[in-house]
Amino acid sequence: DAGWGVFLTILHAKAESAGREVIAVDPRNTSRTCPECGHVSKENRPTQETFLCQSCGHTAHADTVGALNVLRAGLARRNAPTA
Ligand SMILES: [Zn+2]
Repeated sequence: DAGWGVFLTILHAKAESAGREVIAVDPRNTSRTCPECGHVSKENRPTQETFLCQSCGHTAHADTVGALNVLRAGLARRNAPTA
């Protein structure tokens, strides 16, 4: 998927330019997580293109959901306190 490649390239470039480790997030896992309620299930992906949460009914394009979750996971890791 061209969109994913571009997004991850930008994410990696930002991480490297900030002198940080590349933020590695599995896009297959993030694309199964509901950005609204956090429910994780492969059933949330009735088709390759569609996200439909089995818990709260939130629906969106699967790429949008994946991008949101990758961004959120990356920000959470950046904001986490480091030892
Ligand atoms: Zn949900």
